Amino acid sequence: MINIPRLTFYRQIHVQNTIGIKRGISCNRMATSTLSSVSHVHQTQTQPHILTNGSTRSFSASSPSQQPSNVGNVGFAEQDTIIGKQAHEPLTVDGIKARRAKAGKLIAPTASYSDSDMFKSPQAFDKPKAKRWDHLLTEESRARKPCALKQAAKHLKKPGLISLGGGLPSASNFPIDHLSMHVPAPPSFEGGDAATAEAGKYDVAKDENGGVYDLAIALNYGQSIGSAQLLRWVTEHAELAHAPPYADWRCALTIGSTGALEQAFRMFCDKGRGDAVLTEEYSFSTALETAAPLGIKVFGVKMDGQGLLPESMDEILEGWDEEARGARKPAVLYTVPSGQNPTGATQSAERRREVYDVCRKHDVYIIEDEPYYFLQMQPYTSHPPSNPPPHSDERAEVKPIPHPETVEQFLKQLIPSLLSMDVDGRVMRMDSFSKVVVPGSRTGWITASEQIVERYIRHAECCSQGPSGISQILMYKLVDETWGHEGYLRWLMHLRLEYTRRRNTILAACEEYLPREVVSWVPPAAGMFLWLRVDHTQHPQASTKSILEIEEDIFNSCIDKGVLAIRGSWFRAEQDVPPSGLFFRTTFAAASEDDMARAIERFGAAVRESFRLASD
Ligand code: PLP
Repeated sequence: MINIPRLTFYRQIHVQNTIGIKRGISCNRMATSTLSSVSHVHQTQTQPHILTNGSTRSFSASSPSQQPSNVGNVGFAEQDTIIGKQAHEPLTVDGIKARRAKAGKLIAPTASYSDSDMFKSPQAFDKPKAKRWDHLLTEESRARKPCALKQAAKHLKKPGLISLGGGLPSASNFPIDHLSMHVPAPPSFEGGDAATAEAGKYDVAKDENGGVYDLAIALNYGQSIGSAQLLRWVTEHAELAHAPPYADWRCALTIGSTGALEQAFRMFCDKGRGDAVLTEEYSFSTALETAAPLGIKVFGVKMDGQGLLPESMDEILEGWDEEARGARKPAVLYTVPSGQNPTGATQSAERRREVYDVCRKHDVYIIEDEPYYFLQMQPYTSHPPSNPPPHSDERAEVKPIPHPETVEQFLKQLIPSLLSMDVDGRVMRMDSFSKVVVPGSRTGWITASEQIVERYIRHAECCSQGPSGISQILMYKLVDETWGHEGYLRWLMHLRLEYTRRRNTILAACEEYLPREVVSWVPPAAGMFLWLRVDHTQHPQASTKSILEIEEDIFNSCIDKGVLAIRGSWFRAEQDVPPSGLFFRTTFAAASEDDMARAIERFGAAVRESFRLASD
């Protein structure tokens, strides 16, 4: 690692390219090692030229005639970007705009390597470094070497080098010349507020459609960490929303949290070592199905209306008996702190701090899976006072609060993430565009310490190679070029109100149609799930039928009546332990308001029938 004094943040290294545009490579203390190991010099570029069929095409950073010498490095157009004034102030949307204006246009040709340190603000570095996790990494993870072919790109820094090396096809053979995308736009994201985003093949050379990211770059192979263009946005967003309290945090794009979790489990848990994971007593079933075939034992932590109970976690870890449990004391917690799947539970700020403290006490690494984080809704206050919900003690002091008006107010009102309290660098946070933009993009990102992100990328290089270039450019065009940070946060503010409305609709239906003497629920504060608890002890056959049998009867009756509610037992972290209660997961994400009411009415009828209660 080259040591560069602190004042060299955003110091620019300037090179002159062949068409005379002055270009720079921004580097800072953390970025230097990476940049020095790849390349600092731009590749030879050609002038734009006219094709014989009359259409104008430009070839430069993404020139097919230069393929693959366009494989280069990330830089910025302007010089001397020393951001002195902003130091030690929290990053804001305006601060990002100012930094970008000073840095100039991002220059990131095909397959160029970038990392978050190129895009973090100076103040992000002025903190202690993360702890090391060597003791936790599996043999498989430690054995991963950099992908030789991806590393070969570093030789392209040599001026005049003719590459016969990489297997990157020429962009001239890509049969997609142009993409156009119509999207809703702020402020209302409805009706007349719409925008069009365009992407051409050679926009960078032609300086069209933003001139930063084009199809020639996006549709070719890229680095597994993701394109610099989208990684910049993700890094800025992570700093804006979480400001991790240690210096060497980084982001990497993922193919969504499902794939990221599989990689994470393989990085931290080894069947041969008898490793185990802690999670909520009722947990996201796909996460459980990911762990099981890897031979990772999963243990459930008790929950209340706010999710994970830190004291239960502490008790489990404190009294861990390796032999009795058949696994080593867990060194990993997998948790979904907001709008947890399946229970809809949301950990308060205090709860998150307590969970983090227990993890510190037992040196547990945290995988924070947060697809629903930004779907934190307005508090639920609309139940009639004469008909208070169960758990009314938990709800007693819920008061209406004004909707946030500015993006700053919105960010401030969010419950702080585990990442934002992570002084040790013991959290890998997984974000996803799935629940807040589109699941089919298969894009998301992780934020973790440099060591963990580096191991994650080594793994990605040899499995997925990172998210699809088509997805990356579409997401970039949407969240960066069209919406920007302000527009994206406004979209999230818009979405949370949509979910608030839907949540209120399903709760109103529950209040109207469910037999309150046996069915109870906690109004969800985030996400898209409502967890219905059915008091099995009041079932007429409680002494002769198991919870699972009663659950099955109600489930089948629901199907007969025309409603699908997911059986709670499917989410049990420990399938071999009898369930502690009878639950059903419902979602208010997709059904129309009328259908939601009809579905809850049918569910209520199925429960009444099973419990032999008089119909309403
Ligand atoms: N994590 C949780 C808790 C989820 O509920 C889901 C989807 O239901 C996912 C991850 C999947 O996310 P992705 O689409 O990013 O793979």
